[in-house]
Amino acid sequence: MSLNLECIIGLEVHAQMSTKTKMFCGCDNDAWNKAPNVTVCPVCMGHPGTLPVVNAEAVTKAVRTSLALGCTVASDCHFDRKHYFYPDLPSGFQISQYDFPLSKAGSVAYELRDGSGNVTSERVCRITRLHMENDAGKLTHRSTGLTAGRGSKTLCDYNRAGTPLMEIVTEPDLRSAAEAVAFAQELRRILIAVDASEADMFKGMMRFDASISLREVGTEKLNPRSEIKNLNSFKSLEKALQYEEKRLRSLWEKEGGPLKGSITVGWMDEEEKTRLLRDKETADDYRYFPEPDIPPLHFASKELQAIKAQLPKLPKELRDHYLSLGLDSKQAMQVMDDTALRSVFDAIYTKTKDGKRTVSLVLTQLLGFLNAANKAIGDGPDATELLELVEAIDAGTISGNAGKDVMEKMVATGKSAKDIIAAEGMQQISDDGVIEALVKQAIAANPKAIASWKAGKEAALGAIVGWVMKESKGQANPGKVNAMLKKQLS
Ligand SMILES: [Zn+2]
Repeated sequence: MSLNLECIIGLEVHAQMSTKTKMFCGCDNDAWNKAPNVTVCPVCMGHPGTLPVVNAEAVTKAVRTSLALGCTVASDCHFDRKHYFYPDLPSGFQISQYDFPLSKAGSVAYELRDGSGNVTSERVCRITRLHMENDAGKLTHRSTGLTAGRGSKTLCDYNRAGTPLMEIVTEPDLRSAAEAVAFAQELRRILIAVDASEADMFKGMMRFDASISLREVGTEKLNPRSEIKNLNSFKSLEKALQYEEKRLRSLWEKEGGPLKGSITVGWMDEEEKTRLLRDKETADDYRYFPEPDIPPLHFASKELQAIKAQLPKLPKELRDHYLSLGLDSKQAMQVMDDTALRSVFDAIYTKTKDGKRTVSLVLTQLLGFLNAANKAIGDGPDATELLELVEAIDAGTISGNAGKDVMEKMVATGKSAKDIIAAEGMQQISDDGVIEALVKQAIAANPKAIASWKAGKEAALGAIVGWVMKESKGQANPGKVNAMLKKQLS
């Protein structure tokens, strides 16, 4: 029996918003590298008698994201309490949005690419909804190494409790792990483009829950699904979905059909397996009710239009922009997906107005030298320092070729272009007197070349220019050498 099954995937994405303060209190929202439990207050610790106040910056960022995703923002919405009991949630409920989310019904167009970055097909994934909520704290489970089950402990860090999140839910439009990853990467670019989230995967700022089910091709019904919780990287998203698809396929073959009921599983990164956590919880389990301490939100269409008018270039437009500068598809993605690289690239392009030259300076030279030195973009010269080098080349102080050596030394030593040029005596020779003397010597030293030039071989002059360049250790200004040579010979 050969079954023709297709894979139905939908995602729930949690993205941490890049605000100064938390969702409902004034605590610092940046807990990175801070000691545990220092960015907390009675509000985010859920003490009785405290009142949450909505963070306007978070709402604006969530609205901006909604509009960038093409969602319709509700003119009225409110927050709800979602109850569950777990030590990471001091108040015993999360403040979320249930039946009236901030926005609904958008879509993300994304591209599938081959290994060389070329687009192989274009897809669209619809967005069901986007809502705001606060994050829970972070639990660290430690075993003290004593008898199993005894002596183990859980450490609670509430720095993250109350951090503003957007939950973005998709329709089950994705058909493979590769599609899920490509979609999620495009969504991440959008979040970064509209400055709603840094979406730093390493810092857990973007996390996924992925639902997957199978059905026979040609049927429309959605079967019970397996929801994989807490995937923290594109790699685990891809691996977990591939694993679960395989598992559901073999289950189908064994049992002759789909799952009997929806389940929740966890992905175990190290073992590269999913593990059953529980049957799927339903809305009833959470006892949702409207949050009584926060007034409903209302958006005037004027406000929304103003936010929409200020949306920056979205990834699709950005990509087209970089392609139009002469970058190939892979280079365009490379620049777009690395914020630090992009800011350097943009700064150099703004100055040079020359796409090819910027590619050569930033992607070929700078990245090449950084890679060779095993350094990251942040460890190398910044845009201002690089522009100093560009100016030195443009002013004729050094040649473009010497510029490469200077760049390499900037990366290696951290010194400025000016200091390196001065210390190494790399200034280009543009002085007419010096060039004239060099050209005269060259003519005297190369009678053969002069003879063949006189016989009509224009290319013979190349040998003379080469001689001058060699004699001056590459420092003579080649344009001036050419001009002087023609003047001397005429
Ligand atoms: Zn707080």
